[in-house]
Amino acid sequence: MPDSKKTIALVNATGRQAASVIRTVTAVGWSVRAQVYSSEGLVAEELADLPNVTLFEGSLLDNPVLIDTIFDGVQVAFINTNPLAGDEIKIGKALANAAKKRNVQHFIYSSMPDHSIHNPNWPTLPLWACKFAVENYIRQLGLPATFVYAGIYNNNFTSLPYPLFCLDFQDDGSIEWRAPFHPDTKLPWLDAEHDVGPAVLQILLDGPKRWNGHRIALAFENLTPIQVCKAAERAIGRPCHYVFDPKIEIKVPVPSGYRQQLATLEVLFGKYNAPYFPGPEFTFNARRKGSNDTIGPKNSASSHESQSRTPNGRSNSLGGAKLGKLTDEARSLWEGYRGLEEYFREVFPVEEEANGKTWMA
Ligand code: NAD
Repeated sequence: MPDSKKTIALVNATGRQAASVIRTVTAVGWSVRAQVYSSEGLVAEELADLPNVTLFEGSLLDNPVLIDTIFDGVQVAFINTNPLAGDEIKIGKALANAAKKRNVQHFIYSSMPDHSIHNPNWPTLPLWACKFAVENYIRQLGLPATFVYAGIYNNNFTSLPYPLFCLDFQDDGSIEWRAPFHPDTKLPWLDAEHDVGPAVLQILLDGPKRWNGHRIALAFENLTPIQVCKAAERAIGRPCHYVFDPKIEIKVPVPSGYRQQLATLEVLFGKYNAPYFPGPEFTFNARRKGSNDTIGPKNSASSHESQSRTPNGRSNSLGGAKLGKLTDEARSLWEGYRGLEEYFREVFPVEEEANGKTWMA
């Protein structure tokens, strides 16, 4: 019988995406060769204790020896780069070159879109477009590859005063979420720690025959900001209000690259109400096939799933959209996902407590 247990290369292993993959593949007996920026810390120590995991500590930028070492003897790879590490295009290309040299059989790359190629009005999000540039490079190399597009992580939400996903606990006991996303426009959601691993394992088990060249939305729910607040309200037991605010208030120090990303988000989503994932692969017409999604939006004309958009960003009536739902592929890969309501009920209070918050007491 052929040995179905593979060895996989990963980078940024302590990040939420890669750590989820490592936990899942080691649970089914695969071996892991993974880069970490530091072998200290809870997650690095947890991963190092898993069976058949070898961690390599060091920076990826201009480090061909480390990159080559990670790919030594692996058959498959899951690659998610991280802006904190430096030039993501340079790092991404170096990783793809090393995989090509080692004849990696299936390279899963965690990509993100460049909105500007879909509409001349839409600006390029700098921290996403670099990933898209690497995706194009991987395609040119001819690596057998699949491109996953991660939805917004459930655990971006925090009551700490970070920009964009702050659930702000008010004096009257209610919660307020203020962001530049239009209140009735659906957004893709993902519990990265819980669900990236099982979905990526299934893509790898299916292999490039099934998924070569595909873009897959790693999003298990597609909910409007108002629906998100309703889920938080049900789970946490406090009123939760959404406030559309085209300006993102920055109350804590953030890296300059992230500041530019936030300013661009204001324009892309606040001004133009662009779909989170643009392009034909991600534009669906749910009404033609019936609904497996959660609650429908009040204003379905603003639903990403029930419209297509003209090049000037306005929607037209369903022409050209794919059948089904944005969440179909992710749910077909992995049925046991954790939705936002469960996240808010089970995990959010624990993370808040770890951050020193006492509202749940
Ligand atoms: P993460 O944010 O969970 O972890 C960040 C990692 O960076 C940690 O492993 C940390 O040890 C490491 N790190 C800290 N300081 C560093 C430094 N100076 N140099 C290098 N590394 C350092 O990671 P993740 O979520 O798995 O991956 C991040 C990527 O995912 C980003 O490119 C982000 O754009 C993308 N992404 C995020 C979301 C989201 O909703 N948060 C959605 C889609 C894509």
